[in-house]
Amino acid sequence: MTTIFHKIIQREIPADIVFEDDHVIAFRDIAPQAPVHVLFVPKQDFATLNDVPTDAPEIIGRLAVAAARYAKEQGFADDGYRIVMNCNEHGGQTVFQIHLHLLAGAQLGRFGT
Ligand code: C5P
Repeated sequence: MTTIFHKIIQREIPADIVFEDDHVIAFRDIAPQAPVHVLFVPKQDFATLNDVPTDAPEIIGRLAVAAARYAKEQGFADDGYRIVMNCNEHGGQTVFQIHLHLLAGAQLGRFGT
């Protein structure tokens, strides 16, 4: 399935891209939920976390490491930040190409239901 994130990867629609390598692209969320809100998206196609093969944990690892590196570069490592991946309806997922949210730059509230 082609999602809006695939179109960003293909440069078919614009995005504020902050990082890219062979495996991952990262861009600012258009509706930020924190002073810094960046999405880290693998270039491989997986609709949800459920679809990532169990023998390919590096797909998720690359997202987390890229997010942590970016947070550190931007000066958020010591104060801290949050990474979140939503999955399917109950998780609040709205775009069905997996992505990791990086939220930083403020004291974040607790979360849950
Ligand atoms: O985890 P979830 O699927 O809900 O997150 C999708 C995110 O993608 C939302 O935070 C939304 O603001 C963002 N988005 C975006 N650019 C788009 C469409 C959605 O940053 N063109």
